[in-house]
Amino acid sequence: MTSVAATHLLPVFARVDLSFERGEGAWLIATNGDRYLDFTSGVAVNSLGHAHPHLVQALQEQATKLWHMSNLFKSPDGERLATRLCEQSFADYVFFANSGAEAMEGAIKITRKYHAAKGHPERYRIITFEGAFHGRTLATLAATGSAKYLDGFGPPMDGFDQVPFGDIEAVKKAIGPHTAGILVEPVQGEGGVRTAPLPFYKALRQLCDDNGLLLVIDEVQTGMGRTGDLFAHRWLGVTPDVMSLAKALGGGFPIGAVLATAEAASGMTPGTHGSTFGGNPLAVAAANAVLDVMLAPGFFDHVRKMSLLLKQKLASVVDRHPDIISEIRGEGLLVGIKAVVPSGDLVAALRDQKLLTVGAGDNVVRFLPPLIVNESEIEQSVEMLDRACTALSGGHGKQAVAS
Ligand SMILES: *Cc1c(COP(=O)(O)O)cnc(C)c1O
Repeated sequence: MTSVAATHLLPVFARVDLSFERGEGAWLIATNGDRYLDFTSGVAVNSLGHAHPHLVQALQEQATKLWHMSNLFKSPDGERLATRLCEQSFADYVFFANSGAEAMEGAIKITRKYHAAKGHPERYRIITFEGAFHGRTLATLAATGSAKYLDGFGPPMDGFDQVPFGDIEAVKKAIGPHTAGILVEPVQGEGGVRTAPLPFYKALRQLCDDNGLLLVIDEVQTGMGRTGDLFAHRWLGVTPDVMSLAKALGGGFPIGAVLATAEAASGMTPGTHGSTFGGNPLAVAAANAVLDVMLAPGFFDHVRKMSLLLKQKLASVVDRHPDIISEIRGEGLLVGIKAVVPSGDLVAALRDQKLLTVGAGDNVVRFLPPLIVNESEIEQSVEMLDRACTALSGGHGKQAVAS
């Protein structure tokens, strides 16, 4: 017989023995009263911090009116949210889903249907990249292409051709008569905060234009301000045909979205896609409130300012503790610290200092502060990192220089 542990939660997560009662801005208060600086933001979700007054008010107001009503009827607030997202982007249409993987499923379906509706159903394959992460459903796992995640779940779904990230020649070689599109993240978040050089993304756009392919950008993690602009493809200087959003879109309320141009979405007619919960009024109210805050003047200036400060201060910690950490990477407040020691040890040592962070691939620790983080909190986080590095090197390391 298989033994059942003390919890009835399916043991698919290696959870830390720590739980929280409430949050205030960038801080989380544990059930034992300890205060932690939250640089996980629920894995890039709580971008406006915890209990942001404007979000709390929007959700409370909506909760007294209407929680759910299906997509059988019109949704004025959903239309408003879609209009705002389109005004801020390349897109003409938005489909609301409930998670990142679901948004990605929609993006994949739109891409395949585009060619089928043009009389080319054989063009269904999508080129993806090593180190990518697109979700945990069967299609998005196949797109992710990681053996570690696919093992034991039967034959991976057909239709994805994976090539090395940043290798434009490999992309060219992978394009064939069955190719429908190219799917890429502006920054590989889960993959270790890795970005390809800007010309690579421009070359992808050109290849799509030359070969009649759709460029699909997965902004589930990079979107909604995380990299210092509302969408990361703005600073990439590349316009996608299809884009997925989720994580920070609802500020902590589950909502995903797939955005597309009218041309890319031309195959999506009534009945071709759907979702029971997608565009739920509570989720839409949360996302509209998030946009109210992010679109206010100066919001992204603040994100970029905090990013610069954080990266400068982190670089000085690399100088002092080269035996523990070796490199700072990332854009905006999606910051990766390449560890020399196992990244899990660094995450644990930071937690001992009351700083919460997230591991990623490539032995990287992610700093994902809420975008409303202030200067003092950035400084505190860097001091905590410095102490964690000192603890990990057995109390050694160069003396911290007063800045
Ligand atoms: C988190 C993530 C996903 C999956 O989102 P879920 O909400 O966990 O399904 C997809 N793509 C990227 C880039 C992500 O970071």
